[in-house]
Amino acid sequence: MAVPVANPELLKAQYRSLSRQLPTMYFILLSSTWALAATHVEIAPFWLAVLVPIALTVLCAVCSLYWWNTRDVEPTSEMVLRVTERTNYLAVGISLAFTTWALLLFPYGDAYTQSHIALYMAITVITCIFSLMHLRSAAWNVALIVNSAFVIFFMTTGQPTFIAAAINIAFVSVGMLAILSINQNNFESMVNAQTEARREQEEQSRLMRMIDDMPVAVMTVDPEAFKITYANETSKRLIRKIEHLLPISSEDLLGMSIDVFHKNPAHQRRILSSPENLPHSARINLGPEVLDLKVSAVTADDGSYIGPMLTWALVTNEVKAENRIRQLAHYDTLTGLPNRVTFREKLAEALKTTGQVALLYIDLDGFKLVNDTRGHSVGDELLAKVAVRLHSACKETAITVGRLGGDEFAVLMPCETAGSATTFARRIIKSLSVPYVLGKDTSIRIGVSVGIALAPEHGREADVLFTRADLALYEAKSAGKGQANVFCAELETRIQDRAQLEGDLREALEAEDSLFVFYQPIVNAETGEMTAQEALIRWFHLQRGWISPADFIPVAEQSGLIDKLCDFVLKQACHDTARRNDDVRVAVNISGVQLGRGTLAPAVLSALVGSGLSPDRLEIEVTETAILDAETAGMDDLRRLHDMGVRIALDDFGTGYSSLSHVRLLPLDKIKIDGSFVKEAVDRPESAAVVKAVADLGTRLGVTTVAEGVETQAQLDRVREEGCVEIQGYFFGQPAPREQDVEIIEALKTRHTQTREAAERKTS
Ligand code: C2E
Ligand code: MG
Ligand code: MG
Repeated sequence: MAVPVANPELLKAQYRSLSRQLPTMYFILLSSTWALAATHVEIAPFWLAVLVPIALTVLCAVCSLYWWNTRDVEPTSEMVLRVTERTNYLAVGISLAFTTWALLLFPYGDAYTQSHIALYMAITVITCIFSLMHLRSAAWNVALIVNSAFVIFFMTTGQPTFIAAAINIAFVSVGMLAILSINQNNFESMVNAQTEARREQEEQSRLMRMIDDMPVAVMTVDPEAFKITYANETSKRLIRKIEHLLPISSEDLLGMSIDVFHKNPAHQRRILSSPENLPHSARINLGPEVLDLKVSAVTADDGSYIGPMLTWALVTNEVKAENRIRQLAHYDTLTGLPNRVTFREKLAEALKTTGQVALLYIDLDGFKLVNDTRGHSVGDELLAKVAVRLHSACKETAITVGRLGGDEFAVLMPCETAGSATTFARRIIKSLSVPYVLGKDTSIRIGVSVGIALAPEHGREADVLFTRADLALYEAKSAGKGQANVFCAELETRIQDRAQLEGDLREALEAEDSLFVFYQPIVNAETGEMTAQEALIRWFHLQRGWISPADFIPVAEQSGLIDKLCDFVLKQACHDTARRNDDVRVAVNISGVQLGRGTLAPAVLSALVGSGLSPDRLEIEVTETAILDAETAGMDDLRRLHDMGVRIALDDFGTGYSSLSHVRLLPLDKIKIDGSFVKEAVDRPESAAVVKAVADLGTRLGVTTVAEGVETQAQLDRVREEGCVEIQGYFFGQPAPREQDVEIIEALKTRHTQTREAAERKTS
C-alpha cells in the first residue's frame, strides 16, 4: 500500500498521470458495469441489478468529479501524498465492491450471462491495471483482489471453459504486472531524469542570476576573437558610468572587441590568449578613471582552456584615497615637503647609493616667538614661505629637502667637503633670513641655524648622521644664532661630559651635600656700608673640585633642574637673611628659562613664607639677555614678583642690547652694570660714558645702579665718579660661604684630595 514518500517529484508525476487516467478508468468501469446490469436486469433481483450499479456509479462519479475539479491545480507534496494514499485504499474498496457485485450476479444467469460476467471482470481488471499503472501499489491491489477472486471463483465452478479462462486470466495478470513493473520503472526514471534536468536548469539560472547581480563586474571573452561573450549587470552598470570614455555602449557589449579597454591591445591579447599568462591583474587608467582588472582562466572539466574571465571594478575613489593616505603618511601637509619618515628613508637610500652626502639640519631661530605672539596661522604661513624659499635655494643642489617637524627642516645634498657644505649652508641662512612679508603688511625676520654632518666621514647610517647633525646644530645655536656648524668628534665628547655632569648635578640636588650658597657683599658707594649680598650657588664635585656656575647653570637650564636649584638657593638665602639682625637684603639670581611659566612667584612666596623674610629684603636678579628672550608671560612673572614687594634687579646690563626701553618697561629697582664695562671704564672713555649714562638714567628713574666686578681702587674711584650708587666686587669682598658651611667644605676638599691621590696612585 506504500507510496514513494521520499520522492515528492515522483509522487507529483503519479498524481498528474492519475488525474488524467482515472476519469477514463471510471468511464470504462461504469459503461461495462451498466452493460452487465442490462443483461441481468430481467433475471437478477432489482436491488442487485439496478440499485447496486447506481450506488457504484455515484461513488465513481464523485471520484471522477474530484479528479475533474482538480485537473488544473498544481498539487502540493502533502496533497499528493494524501490523495495517492486515498486512491490506494479506494482501489481496494472499489475492486472488492465491483468484484463482489459481479460474482453475486453469477448464480442468476445462464452460460451466456455468466460468460459476460467473466468478460466483464477480465476487461475491468485490465482497464484498472492500465489506468493505475503509475500508482503501482494500487494496480497491484486491484490485480490481486480481482484476479484472486476471479481465479478462485471460476476454478470452483468446475466448468472447463471457465477454468481455462481463469488460468488464462491468471497468466495475463502476471504478464501485465510484469509489464507494469517495467513501465513503472521507466516512468520513475523518466520522472527522476526530468526532475534532475529541471534542478540543473534552475541551478544554472540561479548561478547566472547570482553572477548578474554580483557587486563585481564580470565579463568573459572569446580567447580567439577577443570579443566579449558575456557581461553581467554590474559590468553593464559600470560601463554606463564610463561610457563617455569608451567607443562602445553598455547596451551592446556582447560581441564587442575587448581592445577598447587597453592602450596596448596587442599586449592585452597576448595575455588573454593563453591560460599560461593567467591569473593576471592590472590597474588600467582610462582618462580620469582607474579600473582594477583581474583576469583568470576558465577551463573545461578536461582542463582545456575555454577563455578568460575578467573581473573588474572602478577604483578611482579608492586610488585617490590611497594616494591621499600615502601623501599624508609621507609628506608634510603644511609645506608639501617630505616628512621626517620619508626624509630619513631618502637619506638611508642616498647613503646606500651615493655614499658621499651632507646632511644639513636647519632650525629657525625665534619661530616660537612668532607663533606665540602673532598666532598659529601666521606661524603656518611663515613655515610655508620658508619651505618655498628653502626649496628654491636647493633646487639645483639638493637631493631632497624635508620638514622634520615644527620649525626644523633638513637638506640632503651630494657633497665631498665640509667647506662646500658650509658655504651652501650659509647661502641657505642668507636666503631664509631675508624678511618675510606675511598677511597685508607684516614683515617678519627670523634667524636660521644649521648643523652639518657628512657621510661617510661622520657616519654611514641615517640615524647616526641625524644625531650628529643635530649635535652640530645645537652647537651652532649656542655659538650664537645665524651660524652653520659642522659636526666634530670633540662635540660628542662634550655632549657626553654634559650628560655626566647632568647626572651628577641631579644627585647633588637630591643629596644637598655638595651644593652651597656663597654670599658676596654689595656696598654703598659713598659709605662702604653693606646694603645687600648676592647669593651665588657653588658646587663642590668630589672628583672635579669646584665647578663654576657658568658651567653647570646651562646644564641645569637644559635638563629642567633649574627650578630645583633655584628653590635651593632661594630657601637658603631667605632663611640666612631672615636670621640676620640687620636690614641687609639678599639678591638671588634667576634664570631666563624660568620666566613665563608662572612658577616663579609661588616659589618665591614659599621661600619668603618659610623663612619669614620680608619681601622688600629680597632682590631677584634677572639678566638683560633673559629679558630680551622673554615673552609677555615672562614680563608678567616679574611684575607679579614686584607686586609682592620683591625688588627686581637687571643683571649684567650692557651685555645684551643695552636696550634702555627695558628699563622703562620693567618694574625695575636696580640696574647692575656688567663688570666688563667697569673694568674698561678706567682706560676707555666710551665705557666710562656708558657707565655714566646708566648711572644718570638710574638717578632720573629712581633706580639704584650697581657697578659689578670692582676689583681695584681705580675702578672704584671711576664708578663712584660716574655716579654709581652701589658697588660689588672683589675689592669689597669675594663670595664666601656661611660659617657653618666652612667646615663641611674643608672636609669635602680633603676627601677630594684623597680621592685624586688614590686615582693617581692607581694610574701610576
Ligand atoms: P652674576 O649674577 O653676574 O654674578 C656675579 C658674578 O661675578 C659671580 O660669578 C661673582 O663671583 C663674579 N664676581 C663678583 N665680583 C667679581 C670681581 O670683582 N671680579 C670678577 N672677575 N668676578 C666677580 P659666579 O658666582 O661665578 O657666577 C656667575 C654667574 O652665574 C652669575 O653672574 C649668575 O648669572 C650665575 N649664577 C650664580 N649663581 C646663580 C644662581 O644661584 N642661580 C642662577 N640662576 N644663576 C646663578
Ligand atoms: Mg647676579
Ligand atoms: Mg652680573
